[in-house]
Amino acid sequence: MKRTKFGYLLFGAALTLASCTNEESVVEQAIQDEVTVDKNAVNRANLKPIGSGVMMQAFYWDVPAGGTWWNTVKDKVDDWSNAGIDAIWLPPATKAQNGALSMGYDPFDYYDFGEYDQMGSVETRFGSRQELKALIDEAHNNRLSVIADIVINHNSGGDKELNTFTGVEYYTKFDPLSGKFPRTFDDFHANSNHQSDPAVFGGFPDLCHHQPNVQDWLWKKPESVAKYYKNVMGFDGWRFDFVKGFEPWVAREWKNAVGGFSVGELWDGSVDYLNWWANEANGSAFDFAAYYKMRDAFDGNNMHKLNEDMLLKRNPQKAVTFVTNHDTNEIYHGKMRAYAYILTHEGYPTIFYRDYEEWLDKERLNNLIWIHNNLAGGSTNVLFTDQDEYIAKRNGHNNAGLVVYINNADHWQERWIQTNWNNTRIKDYTGHSGWEPVTQGNGWVKIQVPPRSYSVWSVK
Ligand code: ZN
Ligand code: ZN
Ligand code: ZN
Repeated sequence: MKRTKFGYLLFGAALTLASCTNEESVVEQAIQDEVTVDKNAVNRANLKPIGSGVMMQAFYWDVPAGGTWWNTVKDKVDDWSNAGIDAIWLPPATKAQNGALSMGYDPFDYYDFGEYDQMGSVETRFGSRQELKALIDEAHNNRLSVIADIVINHNSGGDKELNTFTGVEYYTKFDPLSGKFPRTFDDFHANSNHQSDPAVFGGFPDLCHHQPNVQDWLWKKPESVAKYYKNVMGFDGWRFDFVKGFEPWVAREWKNAVGGFSVGELWDGSVDYLNWWANEANGSAFDFAAYYKMRDAFDGNNMHKLNEDMLLKRNPQKAVTFVTNHDTNEIYHGKMRAYAYILTHEGYPTIFYRDYEEWLDKERLNNLIWIHNNLAGGSTNVLFTDQDEYIAKRNGHNNAGLVVYINNADHWQERWIQTNWNNTRIKDYTGHSGWEPVTQGNGWVKIQVPPRSYSVWSVK
């Protein structure tokens, strides 16, 4: 796209300016300007809409150190995009207290993407600034959005200084080598302005988002973290870490300042709490309610749990669903069935890197991603549930919809169900069942499902 645009401009400029006296230098200057502008501007016009497909969590806890991770991910983004991924979520990308070993959740310098020699290294665990930029460009070239992991509850790695408000010495003096967002004790709790905070994180200095200096640097001024990440680095969306540690207006203000998709890590199984937070923050929330209930359903063999409340039912537009993540990092029986659940139901599903690249069957996940992107539309009706079986239909929206049948038992099962399709041949799009039955005039049809597996039915 960039090359096309540039070539087009060169051709046009040459024609227009052909009669100018010092035409060559003018044309060259025009080209120079265009190249400069083009190089720095982030072109988001061709990105897939976030939520139209599936998100990839492009890391796990303790990915290989040594500055190679950005390159590892860069090599995969075109395959992921072809499979139906629409966005990648990267780990916190700037220099943290633990330097080259850190996973990024102990942030020190928000502007050191691996270019300043501090905290014992130049590069981050994941690579250099150039490597990160190359990854973001490659993702964009493959129409993928890039979601930044934003850790703004706490900071780490500051020097000790006296807090004149509390009279206690603490590690709140931050003079990052980037020169940006210097901060002192008055930017943290407790301070002259704000003595309390919803939650602190492991004794780390806790940023006070009420302080003008903090607001200016985080999202308000042109050089703020939010604007720098978006306009200079090219990040498109935001995943807010540990949002229990601050009030939701912080995420809302951030989003008001720079726009883009946002999702909060509100680690809590209460749907009321998740829904409240998502509405207050004007963003999405990871559906921890669905996470816990799916584990009970598939690992604990109690499919009735799937009929309980989840954010994806209460507020589907704001639910980001997941089976596991870098914190939970677990393998359990029935994980593929959990993916079959989130990839056929409402919400914006996330796939965990290790599940996709290491632990589960990639072809089966690709099949479910295709089903999600092409068949899983419209409202949902649950058709049947017992201890070890769950059947639901999506009623379709600009697509045919589907019927999903999930089975925890160690034997094949089958059931008569009523579909929306009359006198229509249907098939199992997972390929697990070779049946291609024709529905009756009233939509009834018998479907089947293999042991400890799932099938997904739609019109042939
Ligand atoms: Zn505060
Ligand atoms: Zn906090
Ligand atoms: Zn049963």
